[in-house]
Amino acid sequence: MIRQIQGLHHVTSMAADANENNAFFTHILGLRRVKKTVNFDAPEVYHLYYGDEVGTPGSVMTYFPFGDMPRGKRGIGEVGVTEFAVPPGALHYWEERLAAAGVTGMARETAFGEARLSFAGPDGDGFALVETAPRGRTPWTGEDIPEEVGILGFHGARFRLREAGATEELLGFMGYQKAGEDKGLTRFVIEGGNAADTIDIEALPGSAAARQGAGSVHHIAFAVEDRAAQLEVRQALMDTGYQVTPVIDRDYFWAIYFRTPGGVLFEVATNEPGFDRDEDTANLGTALKLPTRYEQYRSQIEDVLPELAG
Ligand code: ZN
Repeated sequence: MIRQIQGLHHVTSMAADANENNAFFTHILGLRRVKKTVNFDAPEVYHLYYGDEVGTPGSVMTYFPFGDMPRGKRGIGEVGVTEFAVPPGALHYWEERLAAAGVTGMARETAFGEARLSFAGPDGDGFALVETAPRGRTPWTGEDIPEEVGILGFHGARFRLREAGATEELLGFMGYQKAGEDKGLTRFVIEGGNAADTIDIEALPGSAAARQGAGSVHHIAFAVEDRAAQLEVRQALMDTGYQVTPVIDRDYFWAIYFRTPGGVLFEVATNEPGFDRDEDTANLGTALKLPTRYEQYRSQIEDVLPELAG
C-alpha cells in the first residue's frame, strides 16, 4: 500500500459549448476560473479550470469544450457523479439558486448520513452538492454567493462499474480504506487527506457501458505533494502490473495516467507548481495561457477559440 495520495486533485470532463460551460461554473456555481489555456494535445480546444481562489488541489473542475461534440451516454465504466462539498445547511440555498437558473435533474437524497442535492450540468454531467464540514476550506466569493453556503471544493466522486472488486483493491493499494456501505454504494476514504477524500463505488453488473461525449468525465486525478512522491507512486503501480505513462508536464502540475480495471482513467498529479506560476493570484484565469511550444501559433489559436464572455 502506498501513502502518498492525498485525495482528489482535479476532475476533467468534456463539454460542448465553451461559453455555456464557463457561465455555468462561474456564474451559477460560483467557482473561480483559475486558468484559461488549451488542450495540450489539441490546441484549437480550450482547457478551462474552475476552482477556489488559487485552484487548490481538491477543488479544481476542468473542461475541454469541444464545440459541437455530441452528448455522452451515462453507463458503467465511468465517473458517474462528481461531488462538491458545501457547508451544512447550504442545500436549501442551492436548490433555489439552481432552480432559478433552470438547472435540471435536481433531487434531494441522503447517503452515508449526508444530505445531497443531485443535479445535471449543461451537457447532462452528473453532479451533486453534499453537505460536509468545511475542514479548513473556504469558497471563492467572487460571485454573489454568500460565503456560508459557497462550494468548498470536491467532496469526492461516485464510480459506476460493472464489477467493483478490482477497483476496490486498487483504491486500497492507493491508501483508501473501506468506510461503509449504503444504498448499494461502497465508500472509500483516505485518512488524513485533503478533504476531497471520498470515492463511492456503485456496482451495476447488468448495465450498459458508458459512451464518452459532452458531459462525460474524461479522467479523475489524485493529488500527490511533489514529483518525488509521484515517481514513488508510478514505480509502485508499475510493480503491481499497471501500465503507467511517463511523467508529463502540464505546466501547472506534473501528470501520470493509467487505465483502471473498471474502465475509469486515473491520473496522479502533483500539487506543485500550481496555477499561480504564470499569473498573479489576483488575475488568475483571465489571460489565454499557452504552453511554450504553442506560443508561436498564438494568433492562429486565438482566431479559432471562441471568445469567452466573462
Ligand atoms: Zn488531468
